[in-house]
Amino acid sequence: MQLAVIAIDNMPFPARFRSRSARALTPQAEVPTVYAPGTRAEEARRLLLERITDFITRNDLTVTAHNLATICGGLSGSHPELAQAFAAREIAGEPIDQRWLDTLARLNPDGGTRIAELETLMDKLEYGLMRFAQAARSAQTETSDHRDALGEQIEAMASPSDIAQVLDLSRAMLARIEQVETAMARSQAETEQLRENLAKARMEADVDHLTHLPNRRAFERRLVSAATEARTKGEPLSLAFCDLDHFKAINDRHGHEAGDRVLCTMASGLIEYAGDSFFVARHGGEEFVLLFYGLDKEAARQRLDAMRAAQAARQLLNRETGQPFGRITFSAGVAEVTEDTDNRSALARADAALYRAKQEGRNRVVVG
Ligand code: GH3
Ligand code: MG
Ligand code: MG
Repeated sequence: MQLAVIAIDNMPFPARFRSRSARALTPQAEVPTVYAPGTRAEEARRLLLERITDFITRNDLTVTAHNLATICGGLSGSHPELAQAFAAREIAGEPIDQRWLDTLARLNPDGGTRIAELETLMDKLEYGLMRFAQAARSAQTETSDHRDALGEQIEAMASPSDIAQVLDLSRAMLARIEQVETAMARSQAETEQLRENLAKARMEADVDHLTHLPNRRAFERRLVSAATEARTKGEPLSLAFCDLDHFKAINDRHGHEAGDRVLCTMASGLIEYAGDSFFVARHGGEEFVLLFYGLDKEAARQRLDAMRAAQAARQLLNRETGQPFGRITFSAGVAEVTEDTDNRSALARADAALYRAKQEGRNRVVVG
């Protein structure tokens, strides 16, 4: 049982969860007792994959990159908070469905920390590159000055035989300086290129590839700056999660690509409606998040509800097949960020409100 112990010990469940969660979350299959040397890591990987597959099948979840990342984080033990959340959910006997997984991912405080870490790393890299480019530039100017001075001195010299050796040495140095100069010019060009690539990657990292809306990462940053600004000015700031209703059925009926087109249509609808007054981002999957600058939760609810009604009145058509998609509605949860000093609590309130909007029948906006 050595290997099973390794796999389970990687999962830092609290002791009180251990027996039941181990039963619920680890494979029930017999585990061979003896392994040939060198196959343990392989076997652990295989077991982890089996557990992920079992988890997905047992809970009837869709195989998406997002789900896999969350499930793997929880089952491999690389993410202790997720492992604990899974265990607690199973113990409570509540369903591990898509909604709950989305909520977990949405409220995962680690996401914000990781983004902040990434930002700091990128800042450091950018600063490092800038310093290197500066150093390379000044070193180049310096070597070029030395080279000119040395060249002039060599030219000015007569060439009696006793100084021939000094001359040879100086010429060799000159050649070396020229080599270094060329190498530096090359590294400087490469550094500039790297800096450009980094700036581009930074911009791309903020954009959702499907809808071209800002993504969750961009939203998290915007939330922090908008909340700080609103608190400084003493103005309200509200946010809302909008989740498409029964979107899985659209995919099932019309295919994933048609589902993608619906997401893009929804994104442009939201952008068009928002204009410059709100910030709209794709938070992940079929879910969008909005920031309402200068609006309290009631004003935000009214604006969003008008958006919802306009969307619910539209009939969408699948232009590839001519089949109607029918009415595609969304449910939303609103919360006022400036009601509290903690931005995360506004996210939790909006999330709970969205949950209620779904429970109360969908196609509605609920205030948290
Ligand atoms: P509910 O009204 O409760 O929100 O139901 P739902 O079907 O919208 O919610 P559920 O969370 O069960 O399913 C969401 C679906 O959204 C499942 C997933 O395949 C789909 N989805 C997530 N991201 C994408 C995407 O980028 N493209 C497409 N086509 N589908 C996606
Ligand atoms: Mg959803
Ligand atoms: Mg949905």
